[in-house]
Amino acid sequence: MRSSAPSPASALILGGGLTGLAAAHHLRRPGLLVEREDEVGGHARSRRIRGHTFDVTGHWLHLRDPQIQRLVAAITPADAWLEVERRTRVFAHDALLPYPFQANLHGLPLEVVRECLVDFVAAREAAARDEGPGEGRSGPRTFVEFAEARFGRGIARHFFIPYNRKLWGAALDRLGAGWVDRYVPTPSVDQVIAGALGVPQEGLGYNAHFLYPRAGGIDALPRALAAAIEARSPGSIRRGCEAEAIDPIGRRVKLSGTDAWTPYAALISTLPLPELIARIERVPPAIREAAAALRWVRWRYLDLATRAPIPADYHWVYVPGPAYPFFRVGVYSNACPASAPAGAASLYVELSDRQGAIDHAAIAQGLVAIGALARPDDIAFTEAREIEYAYVVFDDDHGPACAAIHAWLRSVGIRSCGRYGAWTYNSMEDSMLQGIAAAAWADDDDARRSA
Ligand SMILES: Cc1cc2nc3c(=O)[nH]c(=O)nc-3n(C[C@H](O)[C@H](O)[C@H](O)COP(=O)(O)OP(=O)(O)OC[C@H]3O[C@@H](n4cnc5c(N)ncnc54)[C@H](O)[C@@H]3O)c2cc1C
Repeated sequence: MRSSAPSPASALILGGGLTGLAAAHHLRRPGLLVEREDEVGGHARSRRIRGHTFDVTGHWLHLRDPQIQRLVAAITPADAWLEVERRTRVFAHDALLPYPFQANLHGLPLEVVRECLVDFVAAREAAARDEGPGEGRSGPRTFVEFAEARFGRGIARHFFIPYNRKLWGAALDRLGAGWVDRYVPTPSVDQVIAGALGVPQEGLGYNAHFLYPRAGGIDALPRALAAAIEARSPGSIRRGCEAEAIDPIGRRVKLSGTDAWTPYAALISTLPLPELIARIERVPPAIREAAAALRWVRWRYLDLATRAPIPADYHWVYVPGPAYPFFRVGVYSNACPASAPAGAASLYVELSDRQGAIDHAAIAQGLVAIGALARPDDIAFTEAREIEYAYVVFDDDHGPACAAIHAWLRSVGIRSCGRYGAWTYNSMEDSMLQGIAAAAWADDDDARRSA
């Protein structure tokens, strides 16, 4: 395939996740995409083990943008997708509640319901007077201030703080509030009261419905993108090829497996931002310093297969209680039966502890307690996985560091985009939109140069 590699004057895309693939698919003139792994997809890859399919924990596709809806429809058959109405739960104080916690307090111990409601009303009153914790003109500064100001100290204490402590670890103390609004549903007073009285408040939030490949595995999406790109331009995706070094002055990249440098007309990178900076030659010290200030959290999770049906019908469940060694558990096969053999289930278990020995017995007992397993013996196998770049930490350094790095990258003609290239929190749809915008940038650049 290498013989048909595009001419040096084309765009070069680093990384074959959804951002890079969407970019390659939208380039007017075919470019070259290089992906370090043997498969494209990045965080949207899937693994198949003994009839079970696992993603890199839950990857549910929420589409809002007509352009991405058209793209998905164009590259996959009409019946390729299941349309799923979300079934999500919160397991707190030994009760399984509908999601979100803040709108479904019924079922918690009465004193907890009372505390949550009283504090919620107090937070609303303080907000109306413009004087809540972090509320008012300046807005909440930290995530914890945001949760207390928006929902009251009770809801923050019983859900937001313990859940996010398990998810973010120590980084919770540094976490800002600027990025959360879109992702945390804010019920009305009516909804909070109805939910506390026992009228379930479901369908709140940005992800009440999602799509998932009928045949199992979110990797159907990156694979379809790659097939469309390669049908149009054979040889334009190079798998198992790592970008090792970047020389922006000479506009060339050193790729693994070749001694020669590969020239480019425009460079789109979807590498995690710290990795990109580490590979660029002659980076100014201030930019290296800014890159050193970027923080992220790693995750550890289990792919878990059962040999028997499971009691739970949920797609995923949030578990704030510190007694449980996981913070979220999801069941692929409850959304997509093809993800597991008949009579079995495929799950992911996101673990709070990121290092040290994994306590499988405690995990199995916890899963039984939350209804994700009937008996520990029903586990057929588990495999531990790690995600190096899971969540970017939005702390005080995040904004200034990103602004400085991206401004410098623009000045040397590099577009860094996607969830980890832009260094943000986003969805697969957002990532593909960023890829499409990057392709337009590269095309414009191309047009300017040939003018
Ligand atoms: C735990 C978790 C759960 C998520 N759940 C959802 C969800 O339910 N719904 C949703 O819409 N989104 C979800 N997302 C977000 C989604 O995964 C991302 O938005 C999207 O996959 C990011 O795509 P990307 O191409 O920007 O980055 P990536 O997928 O990280 O792609 C970057 C690619 O670059 C490659 N690469 C790295 N270094 C090099 C190098 N030196 N040379 C060549 N290639 C290199 C990598 O191998 C990778 O393939 C989730 C993310 C995480 C972490």
